[in-house]
Amino acid sequence: AKSAGRNAIRFFDPAMQRMIDERARLQDELSHAVERGEFVLYYQPQFDVEQKIVGAEALLRWQHPLRGLLAPGSFIPLAETSDLIVRLGDIVLRQASERLAAWSRMPALARLGIAVNVSARQMHDEDFVARSLGIIRAAGADPSRLSMELTESLLATDIEATIEKMHSLRREGVCFSVDDFGTGFSSLSYIQRFPLSSLKIDQSFVATCVDNPRSAGIVEIVIGLADRLGLGHIAEGVETAVQLEQLKALGCRAFQGYLLGWPMPVEEFEAMALARVAT
Ligand code: C2E
Ligand code: CA
Ligand code: CA
Ligand code: CA
Repeated sequence: AKSAGRNAIRFFDPAMQRMIDERARLQDELSHAVERGEFVLYYQPQFDVEQKIVGAEALLRWQHPLRGLLAPGSFIPLAETSDLIVRLGDIVLRQASERLAAWSRMPALARLGIAVNVSARQMHDEDFVARSLGIIRAAGADPSRLSMELTESLLATDIEATIEKMHSLRREGVCFSVDDFGTGFSSLSYIQRFPLSSLKIDQSFVATCVDNPRSAGIVEIVIGLADRLGLGHIAEGVETAVQLEQLKALGCRAFQGYLLGWPMPVEEFEAMALARVAT
């Protein structure tokens, strides 16, 4: 770094400059992509204990004109540094709500739910409740088919305002679940303060529950906790039949993971759901 004037510092390190340029370029590309509508939802099926499909988690993909289909890991973290994530969140909610409205007119799919992921910056936006309800209603979706996945760290900030927003949405039927449950550092007492419907057992526990008795213990305790509090639960990241059997032995009754179904385009999901829907 070479100083230009007293306090200003300019970076001439070419590697660092490239990183800064790359970030700025991606940010720019992202906001154009929002305008051009290059985002699609993939749907990963969620199963009950009879392996019937009860709903899906909507997972965002960027259909990039040159680089192909991009997973959220490559653009969500950057989007979360600005209000772009709020616009992306609206797109996700709109697409999911329109899908729910379409399913409500198809008797075989009418009972399916959709879970969407909500970032902290989205939830903490002051218009979140009004905008979300506006989007859901405009699409003609039943809010009680929609669930929002929140992380423990989201729930750990701005607690009072968050509780109030959740209650406002809950009154209209929207459900909330804690994503990646057990990986944050929150105290257990917070769970009872939020109007939650379900706990999502993190895939790290699922991945190790066969070989590691402590993981198995945690899975069992989380399910017991959910039961005791009148909450639902689901295990995510189920990749093997052995894991599925172990989870069932530990009392688990809802599952999501590559073993049972990958995230897939909506037409594929609908075809799979038609064949394996819970009645
Ligand atoms: P997440 O919410 O924890 O989602 C689960 C991730 O695990 C997804 O990755 C999913 O494809 C993947 N997965 C599903 N089954 C398995 C399995 O059996 N094994 C393994 N190893 N992985 C599995 P994906 O789609 O790349 O999404 C990554 C993260 O990006 C999500 O983690 C979520 O935090 C975020 N994300 C995705 N869509 C959205 C969105 O619409 N809005 C926001 N704010 N974040 C999103
Ligand atoms: Ca999730
Ligand atoms: Ca998760
Ligand atoms: Ca995660």
